[in-house]
Amino acid sequence: MEKIMSIIIPAFNEESNVELIHKKINEIMMLNGINYEIIFVDDGSKDKTWENIEKISKDNVNIKGIKFSRNFGKEAAVFAGLKESKGNCCSVIDSDLQHPPETLVEMYRLWEDGYDVIEGIKLDRGKENKLYKNFSKLFYKLMSSATKIDMEKTSDFKLLDRKAVDAIIELPEKNMFFRAMSAWVGFKTVTIGYEVQERAHGESKWSTMSLIKYAITNIVSFTTAPLHIVTFLGTIFFVFTIIFGIHSLYNYFTHQALGGFTTIILLQLIIGSIVMLSLGIIGTYIGAIYDEVKDRNRYIVEKFINI
Ligand code: UDP
Ligand code: MG
Repeated sequence: MEKIMSIIIPAFNEESNVELIHKKINEIMMLNGINYEIIFVDDGSKDKTWENIEKISKDNVNIKGIKFSRNFGKEAAVFAGLKESKGNCCSVIDSDLQHPPETLVEMYRLWEDGYDVIEGIKLDRGKENKLYKNFSKLFYKLMSSATKIDMEKTSDFKLLDRKAVDAIIELPEKNMFFRAMSAWVGFKTVTIGYEVQERAHGESKWSTMSLIKYAITNIVSFTTAPLHIVTFLGTIFFVFTIIFGIHSLYNYFTHQALGGFTTIILLQLIIGSIVMLSLGIIGTYIGAIYDEVKDRNRYIVEKFINI
């Protein structure tokens, strides 16, 4: 049987990019004799993305399309693509050509050599502003310690064998962090470096707020470390309580209990803020549990093409 690679391309307002990436991929795959299907997932675009996908897929059954009823986020789009994929292996690539399609060929060859998970690793992080860089550094530090793998250079650009894909789509959790999931499932893994390219058309689809939300969702879905911070802070403050307690009692019995107003105000403020922060962290996790318990669909499909 001929082997097929499924190429999953999430697209959100990428009208000028879908045709471009399709052309590029088609060229490269023809040249290298690789059978492929492309699954475009239109994540609720407001522009002509879907019309363009329809146009490309018109006389090619190997170009498939999934149109979401609204924007459900990239993770949902990737998941939908994996779910509908039929290939022996599946790759995920951004539609803006920041991930060089040529690397797909190298990934495919590694897969043929028997690797199950081929992780695209950014050789440089491309152009990013300083604040974003520091913020993402902190995020990846946390994620790395949670997943026990170095996440800083990882990306969503990867290729997975069918068995890894099946393992991922079987998982019931709704808030999934795909980038870490491919490592979590295990299997024979190899990394491959690529240079992050400039975006072909349009702008990044992430606002600062959506990035913060994305980071929190993924931290919560992968690690309970913040909850342990609460316990840790509690322990430290318990030690302080004992020391201050003894100190105050000593002062009281030696009749020196006067003043100390500043200490009390400071303690109130510090303890108050720690308690609120802790409640916030716990609340975030309860929110995440609530989301999972509701058991809602990850996405709603409005239309399919060739599926
Ligand atoms: N994307 C998506 N849904 C979203 C946001 C982004 O499907 O809500 C897609 C987007 O069309 C692109 C990929 O995810 O193909 C990466 O997005 P983007 O280039 O905006 O992210 P960046 O490269 O800036 O991290
Ligand atoms: Mg991009």
